[in-house]
Amino acid sequence: MTVDTGFEQELDALAEVAVRVGLNLQPGQDLVLTAPVEALPLVRRVTAAAYRAGAGLVTPILSDGALALARFRNAREASFDRAPGWLYDGMAQAYEGGAARMAIVGDDPMLLADEDPDKVARAGKANSIAYKPALERIANFDINWTIAAYPGAAWARQMFPDLPEAEAVTKLARAIFEASRVTGGDAVAEWQAHNARLRSRTDWLNDQRFDALHYSGPGLDLQVGLAEDHEWHGGASEAKNGVICNPNIPTEEVFTTPHAQRVEGHVRATKPLAHQGSLIEDIAVRFEAGRIVEATATKGEAVLRKLLDTDEGAARLGEVALVPHSSPISASGLLFYNTLFDENASCHIALGQCYSKCFLDGGSLSADEIAAKGGNSSMIHVDWMIGGPETDIDGVKPDGTRVPVFRKGEWAA
Ligand code: ZN
Ligand code: ZN
Repeated sequence: MTVDTGFEQELDALAEVAVRVGLNLQPGQDLVLTAPVEALPLVRRVTAAAYRAGAGLVTPILSDGALALARFRNAREASFDRAPGWLYDGMAQAYEGGAARMAIVGDDPMLLADEDPDKVARAGKANSIAYKPALERIANFDINWTIAAYPGAAWARQMFPDLPEAEAVTKLARAIFEASRVTGGDAVAEWQAHNARLRSRTDWLNDQRFDALHYSGPGLDLQVGLAEDHEWHGGASEAKNGVICNPNIPTEEVFTTPHAQRVEGHVRATKPLAHQGSLIEDIAVRFEAGRIVEATATKGEAVLRKLLDTDEGAARLGEVALVPHSSPISASGLLFYNTLFDENASCHIALGQCYSKCFLDGGSLSADEIAAKGGNSSMIHVDWMIGGPETDIDGVKPDGTRVPVFRKGEWAA
């Protein structure tokens, strides 16, 4: 890769922010780190930063796109219903023992686009089932965790198909560093200020105690009931182990739990959804009593249908998130083909599993109590973008009073 001036420095800053702000890794705490092989320059920096912060043991688990393709092109049929449960059980065990978790993303978002959709779906489902014990500890926020990104070459080529690879990588690196707020002098201080701004939004929303959000705009008429005792979160958040961390680098969203049975109306995606190596375009769905009853897409409709059929909760919502249209990621005008970035460009909703964290006193609630309050449960959690420059959102109070929340894609208050 070509190294432009500042690249090394900003990669150092990103590693520092990922460990100190993203994880807020505690002295003596172990770290389970997953990343593509290509991201080694960042993995090495993160490992060094983690040990400087006092890490007990850093365990990196590396993956590679070519290895994944080797399976899809050569493995016997029965392979696609398998997943390394022993590895995920070990990860779950590490979290139970107090380890923190970091995922570095940077793979080719279209890696599996040309593979057999049936095999891709089966492998994805087998993986979701095996991964559930580990994912639950993350979704329940038992421990401090974070996701950060590295500019992989195939990802860069997907985003900038007309540029030579080296230039594309440089452009993607720039976009990642800017979105991750590590280009200024003191990146850690920059993040503290950003977290304070997000906090003022969640405080306001939590004071309002809305019963529902009503979205309107072109092709959009959607009422999303909010779960009983829902709580808004955004930016820095306290995990059940007491550590305040930033689960996503970057992040621009504030989000909470919708009511799985109280979503009505129709909505279209405002950006394509890159899901497990496939692109799903122009998603349009209609909800009745919380469930998607009609779903179409101009591209990748079969992938969308398989996704919605994963389990009972896959066709219901588990997250609703607000992001102003003027967010830096939206302003970049780039489609990243990666949820970590694209969800921060736009208001979004997520199919599937809810975050128990997004309830008042969520840490003490059982799965049954969460379900009784309207929290959804599923093996999947897939975010997709529904916001745009024309989106209006009203907060609806229990007595029917409406309060403007968004006007023309921006915060109304
Ligand atoms: Zn989100
Ligand atoms: Zn989400």
